[in-house]
Amino acid sequence: MSDTVKYLLDETKIPKAWYNIVADLPVPPPPVLHPGTLQPIGQGDLAPLFPMALIMQEVSAERYIDIPEPVRDVYRQWRPSPLYRARRLEKALDTPAKIYYKYEGVSPAGSHKPNTAVPQAFYNKEEGVKRLATETGAGQWGSALAFAGAVFGLEVKVYMVKVSYQQKPYRKALMEAWGATCVASPSEETNAGRQILKEHPHSTGSLGIAISEAVEVAATHDDTKYALGSVLNHVLMHQTVIGQEAIAQMDMADDYPDVVVGCTGGGSNFSGIAFPFIGAQLRGGKKVRVIACEPSACPSLTRGKYAYDFGDTGHLTPLVKMHTLGSTFVPPGFHAGGLRYHGMAPLVSLVQELGLIESRAYTQTKCFEAGVQFARAEGILPAPEANHAIRGAIDEALRCKREGKKQTILFNLCGHGHFDMQAYIDYFAGKLEDSAYDEKELAAAMADLPKVAAE
Ligand SMILES: *Cc1c(COP(=O)(O)O)cnc(C)c1O
Repeated sequence: MSDTVKYLLDETKIPKAWYNIVADLPVPPPPVLHPGTLQPIGQGDLAPLFPMALIMQEVSAERYIDIPEPVRDVYRQWRPSPLYRARRLEKALDTPAKIYYKYEGVSPAGSHKPNTAVPQAFYNKEEGVKRLATETGAGQWGSALAFAGAVFGLEVKVYMVKVSYQQKPYRKALMEAWGATCVASPSEETNAGRQILKEHPHSTGSLGIAISEAVEVAATHDDTKYALGSVLNHVLMHQTVIGQEAIAQMDMADDYPDVVVGCTGGGSNFSGIAFPFIGAQLRGGKKVRVIACEPSACPSLTRGKYAYDFGDTGHLTPLVKMHTLGSTFVPPGFHAGGLRYHGMAPLVSLVQELGLIESRAYTQTKCFEAGVQFARAEGILPAPEANHAIRGAIDEALRCKREGKKQTILFNLCGHGHFDMQAYIDYFAGKLEDSAYDEKELAAAMADLPKVAAE
């Protein structure tokens, strides 16, 4: 057999519906709380921020939600994405395990993010919205939404975490190429940004701060809504095209994973690959081990508390129950900017509480080591975020070698690293540090968690 095996579905196999794991969970998700009253919110409370179609998806308990044809038409440009068998990596590791990866770097923005940017832009356009405001960490989400805005004719305004804005100028240029505007956050443009700058003039920013800025802009402009690239139920659901396709492709390979691995920042690409497999298991299918891999400098799933918290630093968003490091926690600057979020998607947090997934934290040098080993075997240079999933998958393959087990491992290669070459330059120069977060800062942020009666 040739050493590169690629499982391709034809475009008629693009999923017709997104999968909603809520329908198969043994318990309903905890309610979302209003930031002022701390009571469960109504759909109307979210209306200034999101179009009604997305609010309905956010609270839906239907197992499947139809993907509109205009969205499938845009998906068709890069979906179904390829699934590969990593034969050369298996050989390099000398493992009896089979390793497969689903590659989401084939989208125009180079990551999984357009899977949700496209439907979000579509529904906003349908409901007459003119402009979208959003935040971005490393710039992948900002560029994905800029692309989707260009497709559907929406203006896009992006607040980009300052440390990434400085480290990754090419992502900003990409957003501008697609017609979006991008400013460094914290900025002087919003109350939330000005407040932070007053207290911390040299703030390098965080996703929590950038979210506050974008939410404020949406809440104070009638023609503008907010778009979030991760965390929310509807975002996770849009990403399930990844796992649904992967099930069909594993079937072509006459195989099924024993272990599914993804990296987690806010939890969306992980959910995208994992939830369809977990759902199949919950409906009586084969049991899979599912592993979430996160950075040890921002370890929400492995170190965070499962508690109600704000999604942003300025406390403008509703409260959700999730694994959180505290909304005022600012992680140290490391290269996987897309994983620097203080919280975790409520649905990922819930499935961890239910014992349906495991989580692991890795330092960035360990992840880059795995990413470079992968690139040398398979040729694709991964995004720094994806290196966490690769680390997890390689560790599983090495475990199989130690135990002499012929297991099947599937991981999500959520994006390529072509815009992250500075991180690789630093890694090759031996300059990447495993900066630990400040334990005192973490303790202070955790002590600051809102007190909520509903717990
Ligand atoms: C944004 C991003 C992430 C982190 O977001 P999730 O919602 O956890 O998927 C990971 N990898 C890449 C390539 C990203 O662009």
